[in-house]
Amino acid sequence: MKVIRADFAGFCFGVRRAYDLANAAIQNFDEVQTFGDLIHNPEVLEELNARGIRSISAISKIKKGTIIIRAHGISQKKLTALQKKKVQIVDASCPFVRKIHAAVAKFVAQKIPVFIFGSKQHPELTAIFEDFPAATAVKKFNPKFFKRFVGKKIGLLAQTTERSEKFLEFKNSLEKLGVKVLAQNTICGATRERQNSASALAKRVDVMVIIGGKKSNNSKQLFDLVKNITKSFWIESEKDLQKDWFRGCQKVGISAGASTPEKVILRVSQELKKL
Ligand code: SF4
Repeated sequence: MKVIRADFAGFCFGVRRAYDLANAAIQNFDEVQTFGDLIHNPEVLEELNARGIRSISAISKIKKGTIIIRAHGISQKKLTALQKKKVQIVDASCPFVRKIHAAVAKFVAQKIPVFIFGSKQHPELTAIFEDFPAATAVKKFNPKFFKRFVGKKIGLLAQTTERSEKFLEFKNSLEKLGVKVLAQNTICGATRERQNSASALAKRVDVMVIIGGKKSNNSKQLFDLVKNITKSFWIESEKDLQKDWFRGCQKVGISAGASTPEKVILRVSQELKKL
């Protein structure tokens, strides 16, 4: 079977930076811990665990050592609490995530209600809500709810790993209703590149395989996108592949979420070539 890889797949700038900072911290400091899972990939987490890096999420349990802030970022509230402890902080928050914190702060200062298109349980958004409880996560357009904003201004932002077309759809629905939407598409460039190239590839192949952790939102978005174009499967590693999926297929396309390491992509690719 011919295996074709999407032009953009795997580690993005923000994840690469967080991973490199974690590796540098392991080499240079003792008692390194990450504040929450560093990235949403089980293999990377196992690897870090094996090297003695624990993921910790309760500030009260942190006494000393080095704390790495993950790419998803942290609230100012928690950062301030950490700074009061006798710990060294390595901030690996992605600058694109920080940009959303700043945009929310601006809307809040102007007393404009602010909505973020994304998943309210995702750590990227929960960190924002800790500082700005008035901000609201939205996913499905509900005209009944938004009627109260007709003729009024609202701020609309997006989680970095969402899909641009869905975000625009949401914005258009609000505008059609008569809401004055001050929108900023904060979906990051890496997400867009991965989505565009996966979607272009899905049109040329018989089947798509998306590689990424099941907790990874950007992997989920890639899968949701390509499954509407061709037969698609979402796996975490080559161990999840099933021969039956590829019966009668000549060409398989592969793409991977922004937190999937290169070595996993290569292993999946090698396994697929054997089929
Ligand atoms: S997906 Fe985008 S926002 Fe998230 S870490 Fe990567 S570059 Fe940063």
